Amino acid sequence: MSDKAPLIAAIEMGGTKIVCGIGTGPHDMLAVHRIETTTPEETLEGVSRWLSRAKQEHGHFAAIGIGSFGPLDLNPNSEAYGFITTTPKPGWQHTDVVTFFKHRFKVPIGFDTDVNAAVLAEYLWGAGQGMDPLVYITVGTGVGGGVLVNGQLLHGALHPEIGHLIVPPPSNSLAVQRDCQCPFHKSCVEGYVCGPAISRRWGVRADSLPLDHPAWEEIADVMGHALMNLTLTLSPRRIILGGGVMDQAQLIPLIRGRLIHQMNGYLLVPQLGRDIDQYIVQPGLGSRSGLLGSLALGRMAMDQTKNVHS
Ligand code: ADP
Ligand code: ZN
Repeated sequence: MSDKAPLIAAIEMGGTKIVCGIGTGPHDMLAVHRIETTTPEETLEGVSRWLSRAKQEHGHFAAIGIGSFGPLDLNPNSEAYGFITTTPKPGWQHTDVVTFFKHRFKVPIGFDTDVNAAVLAEYLWGAGQGMDPLVYITVGTGVGGGVLVNGQLLHGALHPEIGHLIVPPPSNSLAVQRDCQCPFHKSCVEGYVCGPAISRRWGVRADSLPLDHPAWEEIADVMGHALMNLTLTLSPRRIILGGGVMDQAQLIPLIRGRLIHQMNGYLLVPQLGRDIDQYIVQPGLGSRSGLLGSLALGRMAMDQTKNVHS
């Protein structure tokens, strides 16, 4: 990015915390701030106040990019465009995020899922450069995934909801709570491997399970099925695995092994053999992909507005 790149405000909206920042790109973030996610009114006001202060301190920003927990309405023709829609998060159902910021700041606003923001940032600046199609999956408080195809973030009737892919129930589980923990599905990925599901399933906090605990094999097995389904439907060039649970360094090699095992030799491509280390990878931007992706969403919104008016 050149010195003349415009300032963009970025908002990464998570169910636990909101991270906002202002800058021009990954090497030029002038300020970053965290706000706890409480009620929509309090939280959005808190973000708005911080953005106003950041603007006074650092100057006018040309656009705002928002990567949010969902589900979201991303259909520009819908009356509910820019809303968080049917989220299970109490108090946040049908929250109009985009209009809130549009009224206050009068700049173009880019809006997408937190994981689509993350996949965009990894594509532009991280572990996904030149890798199209690209998938980014987070395994944290929930499981979600963003998808980039032909240089575009994938939307449609809704947006990808990779966390709820159905997988075979883990067999021979020694778990305390054996059922899938998702209130909607009997056997989905999130219901077995998000942080809270792991804790309930094994009766121990996910981050305090020992390295040799059978939970990790089981988590790898579930993830292996999810990655096989994604490989077969999207034919990605790379899949990036992030989120708190993936901080367990032993998981990625286990997951790679389960993916190869479950594919059972059906697809003979290097990515599913000797080059698997290049196919299933950690994020290149660490925990910054959501915030930087939000910035990229803002930049895209700014460019689109320029194109419309030129
Ligand atoms: P969020 O999904 O809210 O953005 P994270 O990606 O940090 O945040 O995920 C938080 C979840 O990940 C929690 O449920 C936590 O138990 C789990 N987690 C965080 N760190 C670890 C770790 N080192 N090992 C296993 N689980 C972890
Ligand atoms: Zn589910």
